Amino acid sequence: MSKEDYLGHPADFRVKYRFRTEAEGGRKILPSQGGYRGDFLYEEDDRPDATIYMIHPEFENAAGVPVPEDEQAEIEGTARMWILVDKMRPVHRDRIRPGVRGFIVEGSRKVASVEVNQVLGLHTSQLPRIKLSGDHSCRKCGGKWPSPGPIAHGVFRLVRDLIDQHRPIHAIAELRRRTGCSLTSAKGVKHHLGTMDGRCHECNTALDGPSPTDCSSCGAFNYWQGADERAERAVTFCDSPEMTQ
Ligand SMILES: [Zn+2]
Ligand SMILES: [Zn+2]
Repeated sequence: MSKEDYLGHPADFRVKYRFRTEAEGGRKILPSQGGYRGDFLYEEDDRPDATIYMIHPEFENAAGVPVPEDEQAEIEGTARMWILVDKMRPVHRDRIRPGVRGFIVEGSRKVASVEVNQVLGLHTSQLPRIKLSGDHSCRKCGGKWPSPGPIAHGVFRLVRDLIDQHRPIHAIAELRRRTGCSLTSAKGVKHHLGTMDGRCHECNTALDGPSPTDCSSCGAFNYWQGADERAERAVTFCDSPEMTQ
């Protein structure tokens, strides 16, 4: 699954990169896609006390598609770049444009040279910082919690999996991290996620209508995703949230 599918918004920008060889002081082994956490340094900042930014690469194949998590990056190619710290995005909006050069760094070590070749979602990405647009409530359990706003499909799947694996605390943490919602909201969502095949979390009745919806049988509130939406739609579960920067 690409980061875009997972997060429901595009990467910030794309670079051409080239890893340094071992002879040039680079890595012995090229990194694999999964879990790689190289950071970013602007070439014009390059000095010993320079600020290094948490902007992580997602390596692409020759067709511009992210390589699978368990595969290695090529020695050179293109990568999508993801700004991890939302509040830093305005800084990079002023600096990132095609032709800007920099490095992928691991600690103080420069392991690859990069050049920005395309700006992607940098100026348009609004990560879900939700101004709450109202409360959700459940007729079945009487619970009430603030709306979490939109939840990307990949996040739904991840959270559903964690709940199914009996890891509720992890599920709540991931919901909060990936949607920016409050703890109360995340707990409400966690208790009210429909099953992956579109059934009520309480009574297993097939759900109908746009998400979120009350179960027609037991009345329980359900966040869910219909079978036809599962493949391509990135973001559902939204009841007109107000987005803020
Ligand atoms: Zn309930
Ligand atoms: Zn039900």
